[in-house]
Order: sequence, then structure tokens, then C-alpha cells
Amino acid sequence: MAWSGRAARLGHRTRRALRGKRAWVWAAALLVALAIFPTVAPVYHVALALALLADVALASAWTLFSGPTRYLSLAAAAFYGVGAYGNALLGGRLGWSASIGAGAAAGALLSLPVGLLALRLRGPYFAILTFGLSELVRHTVIWYESNVTGTVGRVTVLPVERRTIYWGLLAIAVAAVVAAMLVRRSRWGLALVAIGGDEERAEVLGVRPTGVKVAVFALSAALMGATGAAIAPRWTYIDPLIAFNPLISFQVIIMALLGGVSRPAGPVVGALVLGLLSEIFLLQFRYAYMIVLGVVLILVVLGLPHGIMGWRAEERTEELVRRLRWALARRIPRRFAMRRRHQLFINGEWQDAPSGRTFPDVNPATGEAFTRIPAADAETARRAMDAAERARAEWSELLPAVRAGVVLKAAQIWERRSDDLQAMLTTETGAVRAKAAFEVGYCAELIRHAAALTYQASGEVAPSNVSGKINYFVRKPVGVVSVISPWNFPYILTLRAVAPALALGNTVVLKPSEETPLAGGLMVAEVFEEAGVPPGVLNVITCSREDVEAVGDVMVTHPAVGVVSFTGSTATGRRLAEKAGRHLKRIVLELGGKSPIIVLEDADLDLAVSAAAFGGFFHQGQICMAATRLLVEHSLADALAAQLVEKLGTLKMGDPSDPQTAIGPITSPTQLAKIQAHVDDAVAKGAKVLIGGRSRGPYFEPTLLTNVTPQMRCYYEETFGPVVALTPVKNADEAIRLANDTPYGLSAAIITGDPKRGMALAERIQSGIVHVNDSTVHDEPHAPFGGIKGSGLGRHGGRAAIESFTEIRWISLQTERRHYPFDR
Ligand code: NAD
Repeated sequence: MAWSGRAARLGHRTRRALRGKRAWVWAAALLVALAIFPTVAPVYHVALALALLADVALASAWTLFSGPTRYLSLAAAAFYGVGAYGNALLGGRLGWSASIGAGAAAGALLSLPVGLLALRLRGPYFAILTFGLSELVRHTVIWYESNVTGTVGRVTVLPVERRTIYWGLLAIAVAAVVAAMLVRRSRWGLALVAIGGDEERAEVLGVRPTGVKVAVFALSAALMGATGAAIAPRWTYIDPLIAFNPLISFQVIIMALLGGVSRPAGPVVGALVLGLLSEIFLLQFRYAYMIVLGVVLILVVLGLPHGIMGWRAEERTEELVRRLRWALARRIPRRFAMRRRHQLFINGEWQDAPSGRTFPDVNPATGEAFTRIPAADAETARRAMDAAERARAEWSELLPAVRAGVVLKAAQIWERRSDDLQAMLTTETGAVRAKAAFEVGYCAELIRHAAALTYQASGEVAPSNVSGKINYFVRKPVGVVSVISPWNFPYILTLRAVAPALALGNTVVLKPSEETPLAGGLMVAEVFEEAGVPPGVLNVITCSREDVEAVGDVMVTHPAVGVVSFTGSTATGRRLAEKAGRHLKRIVLELGGKSPIIVLEDADLDLAVSAAAFGGFFHQGQICMAATRLLVEHSLADALAAQLVEKLGTLKMGDPSDPQTAIGPITSPTQLAKIQAHVDDAVAKGAKVLIGGRSRGPYFEPTLLTNVTPQMRCYYEETFGPVVALTPVKNADEAIRLANDTPYGLSAAIITGDPKRGMALAERIQSGIVHVNDSTVHDEPHAPFGGIKGSGLGRHGGRAAIESFTEIRWISLQTERRHYPFDR
């Protein structure tokens, strides 16, 4: 079975590789055909091809900068012209190939003053200014030629053969198209697209927008200058009026727009279409050509705003942005890379850790520390607590609508920043795209749901045994909520406590996991800061493993703390619960799990396989609800094992930013070592590996074990990785007995063709959550989420969140004079 899975994976990889190679083979064949064209074609066709190549080079070079931005340059004729005219000035002194370099340099140099003068202006302003400047250059050259040197029109003395010019232009055109492709795929390309709409967004990508604009504008101008220099000897006479003809600018722009600017192929197609038209019409019907050009321009602008190659340009641009973001996610720590010094968020201010110490934040896929995070100590935690305590009264007294407004705004900002948030999950935790998209999307709902809680913390009016007394049982915020969150679903597990706690009128001190200080903490702070939480209402402190004990101590024992909301391992939860007990603090604990899926013999096998694959291996099994135990009735066990192995064999493991990837890296090397140790221990004690079993770099293969016994570590302990044990069972009773044979009790699932029986069996499972005919991994914002036994205490979600983050107070009103025993 393992072999068939591997073979399927190998086949898949080979097909992908071949598919990729086919494009290269086609490109190489096309280049060879283009290169030999002038040696076999008649002169007229070579001349025509030569003109078309120049058009392709110009249109592609123009698109390089003006395509993705809103900086529509009308200086194409000037850049092309200085390149072309340079030949006339330097003719004889420089060879033709050297003059191409000089033309490129002249174009780039001219672009610098144009760019520096005009790069603050966009759209029509930029177009007008660049046009004006290019006209200035044109008239200066013409004036100089006719009045100073008296040499209007110079004979180019370079006798360059048509074929040589063709090859030179072919190289420049290819360079322009390749440059357009490379720039688009790079961080710069993304920055340029972002500059089109929002320069700040470009900065988020870790680039300086001005630098990118100037550099790409200069590259675009250099390619146009080189084109001018290359084609100049096609004529024997350079007329400055021709070289600097503004019509060239319009023609180039129409070509680019006609073909479409959203893909590098767009300007090529546009140049070929319009280039052919112009060669045919311009030569034969000079005026008719102008009319045709005008009509085409109107048609392009009105009817084909995205060009004939860009029907779905908007979507494509969005897709491009998305792809680039994901490609960058591995390497660029987004907005936070920009902020060279990450800071703690205390009392509404971003500030350094007073000790100045920092700790590394590591990308699990590359193993690189992509940034450093401030390491708060106990004293800083105390300051955060004090700030939260000071902000408490005012925040809790705000009208529900005001608090709800802030929380709803946070949901909006969350959705707006969805791309950044998803990318950060990939960078910081190795989340594959599906997981990142799911988590970020879910959180928007979660925050919105929390906003509604502001109206739901209702109490009761109760009767009294004393006449004239009215009893009110009212819900009040607990004060300061300490939130300590883990790394596996940093947004959800942070926000499911932070958002309701804030909505219900508490203030919060949040300490994210040291593995996810940005996703679990500082990004959340950014969103709520922008949403307008007042200073001190949300405070985020990050700390390293060395300080966590001391910081955690303050988070639990500080006098201001009303409730501790902890999500993490059972061992840490137990320690914190002991501390909380000593200080009489309420604590909500969401801890580990060892969740089973019971598959009964009447189950839909296909559903069982899918539920097991998703439940056991989504996010590499690093989920508290992960279905790590499959308890399958004998008659189905072999078939289920075989189908699951086959499915696991098709899951692509690797780069989490690749949309095809299903299995990303394990979040930390310690975790990876623990998973391997669990599997090795099981194998040494007699477990059989049906598939997987090994780590590869930062990844761990999806692993299915059988013959797992209570002597093995992975039987009772949480592995927290992509490792599932399949155990055949005699009947439902044995399945229930084994399901309950665990120190945990978080989630469970039963898959059966008899839903009524499933519901009855669900009640016999000792677990906070049981899903019938579904996987174990499922949560909804309004559902009471939490475990029993070693999986925790208390609940999050919906009404349970109201109970967790408010306390009930009894207030009574005596409406008539009461008589006490001491009254006479
Ligand atoms: P962990 O217990 O190592 O850490 C959780 C959090 O506690 C982190 O923020 C960490 O910095 C902090 N912490 C560690 N020691 C502390 C101390 N002495 N005082 C105060 N804080 C301290 O867990 P983890 O490795 O981050 O997360 C994985 C675990 O979380 C797994 O066991 C998983 O099952 C569990 N988990 C449970 C749920 C749930 O809802 N039940 C959800 C997700 C994860």
C-alpha cells in the first residue's frame, strides 16, 4: 500500500516537472525559429519583422513600469529618441553594439530627472509631465541641431547589416519580456502593483516604494533607449523629428493597452497586432492610418480596458498579488519586517522591552530567524497588568453599542488585512494555504460573533421572600483577563478569548506563544489598535521561553486578574491551575487531546476515509482535536486502512506557500523530534507502519500506524503531529471502551449509517465534544468548546464565553421599609 502511495506521488511530481519543462521547450524552439528567420526569409519580411521586434521591445519595456502602476509615462518617444539619436551623434566613434549600451544608459539617465521630478504625481499628472519633459528634450535637440551645430539630420555612418540589427533587436525584445516577467514575479513586481493602488501597501512588502519606482522606471527607459539605438541604422539618416516623434509614445501605449498590461504576453500581442497594422497602413495610407490609430485608441480605451489578452485583468491582478504574497510569505515577514524593531503593546503605546533583550522568530519551513521579538520580563508584565487595571472601569462602562462598534471595526480590518494575516501564518507557523485561509476567515466570524455578545450579558430579575425586595442577578465583567495562547492556531485560539473578553467589558493582557509572537499577539494588537481600542484595554507582551515562567506567574497571580484563559498543553495548564488555585483566581483551561474516530461497520467508507484524513492530518495533525485514534470495526478495518494509505500517498508535502501543498512543516524542531521519538518508540515495541514514519527536513511524513498498544508512548500521550493509530475493534462496545481509555476528553467522532445509534453512543463517550458523521476537528463561534478530564476546565464560545468572562452579582432593591429583628 505504501508503495502504491509513493508511486502515485512520484507520478504526480514527474507530471508536474514535465508540464513545467514543456513551456521551456516551446520557448527555446520559438527562439531558435526567430533567430534563424532572417537567414531564410525574404528581405521585406525581415524588415517587417525587425520593425515588429522594435515594437515588442518598446511596448514590453513601457508596460514594465507603467503597466502595473498608475504612473502612465508618455516619455517613450524621448527614451527611444535619445537612444536613436545617440547613434547619430556618436556614429563612428562607437561601434553599433557599444552604441546600444550607450542608448540604454542615455534612456536610463534621462528617466532619472523625469522620475525625480514627477514621481510624486500619478495618473494623468504623471502622463502630462513626462510628456512635457520629453517634448522639452525633443525641442532642445532640434533647436541645438538647427541653431548651434547646423547639422539637422545626421548621417549614421554605421553600416550594420539588417540581420545583425534583427538579432540585436530580438535580444532586446526578449530582454524586455523577460524583465517584465522577472519583475512581476519578484517582490518589486508586487510592490509596483501595490503602488498602483496604495503605496503604504508596497511598504508592507518590505521595499521602499520610491526606490522601486525609480529603478523600474529607469530599467524601462534603458530598454527603450537600447531599442532606439539598435534600430537607428535601419535608416541611414536620422531626423530628430522622426527620432523624437511623439506619435511613437502614443503608438507604444496603444500597443500595450491593446494587448493588455496584466501579463507579459499582453504587450507582445498588442505590438504584433498594431505593428502589423501600422506597417501596412502607414506605408500605404498615411492619413487612413492615423484615423485607424485613433479609432483603435478609442476602442481600446472604451471597449477593451484590459486589452485583448487581459479579459479578466482585475482578477488576474488580484491573483498575481495573491501568488506573489504567498511566494514572498516564506521570505518576507510582511509589515513586521518593515518595523525593524518589533515592540510590545502596552497602554496603547508600542514600546521596547525595558531590558532591550529580544528573541528570534523562526520560519519553520526554512529554519531561518526572520525577525527578532522583544523579550518582556515579569516587571513588564506587571506594567501591562497595571495598565489594563487602570483602563478597566472606563471601558466596562461604555455603552454596549460603542464596544460592539470597536469590535466590529476590528472584524472589518481583519478582513481587509486577510492577505497579510494569512501570509504571516505561513511564515511563522508553516501553515499551508488552505489552513491559513480557513483560520483567517473563521476569525472574522469569531470577532463578529463576539461583538454581538455585548448585548447578551443579561441577568435576571428574581422573586424574593422579603416583601418589597427586588432581586437582580446581573452579569459584570471580571476585570482583567489574562490570555495565554498556543502556536498551532494562533489567531483563533487568541481571538476566541480576546474578542469576547473585550466585548463583554473586560480589559486584556495577552501573552502569545513564543513560537507565534506576531500571529498570536502583535498582529492582533495592530488590528485592535486600528479599530480604536482605548489605551490599556488590550495589552500584548511577548516573551522568550526563559522568561515565560516569571511572566506567566504575573499573568496568573497579579491582583488585577479576574480570569485566566489558557490554551496549551495539559502539563502547563496543570501548573498554572495550581498557581491559580493558590491565589483563588478563576481559570479556563483548554488543553491537549487524544481524540478518537469510531467507524462502525455500517459507515460510509468514503466519508470515514475523508474524515480520518482531514481529522488526523490537517495542519500536520497539530490540532488539539486531531483524530489520532481510528477505532474501526473489523469488517471495515482493512479497506479503510488501504484507502487511507492511498489518500495519504497523494498528499503533497513541502513548501507551505505552494497552493498544491497539503502537508507543511512541523512548527518547531523540538516538536519534530518528539513526533519521531513517539513513532520510533511505537515501532520498537511492535507497531506496524502502514505509511510514513520518517521526518524529512522540517517535515514529517503523514504516518498511519497499526498494532499500537498501551505500552507505547503514543497510545496515551499526545503526539501533536501527523501520526494516527488504527485499531480494529470487535464491536461498538469495545470502540467506546477504547475511546474512553485516555486521560483526555476533548473531541470525538462516530461514523455510522445509523444516526440514531450514533447519537446514543455519543452520550457514552467521555468527551467535551462528539460529532456524529463528521470528523473530530470542528468548531463554531457560538458553540461551547472545551474538554473534560485532562483536556481542560471551562468553555469558550457563545454563551459559554459570557459565563467565562463575566461574573454574576446579586444586587437587590428594597422598595419598602424592611423590619429587622432589632427593630422594636
Ligand atoms: P504550551 O503549553 O507549551 O504553551 C502554551 C502557552 O503557554 C504558550 O503561550 C507558552 O508560552 C505558555 N507557557 C508555557 N509555560 C508557561 C508557564 N510556566 N507560565 C505561563 N505560560 C506558559 O503548549 P503549546 O506547545 O504552545 O501548544 C500545544 C498544546 O496546546 C497541545 O497540547 C495542544 O493540544 C494544546 N491545545 C489545546 C487546545 C484546546 O482548545 N484544547 C487548542 C490548541 C492547542
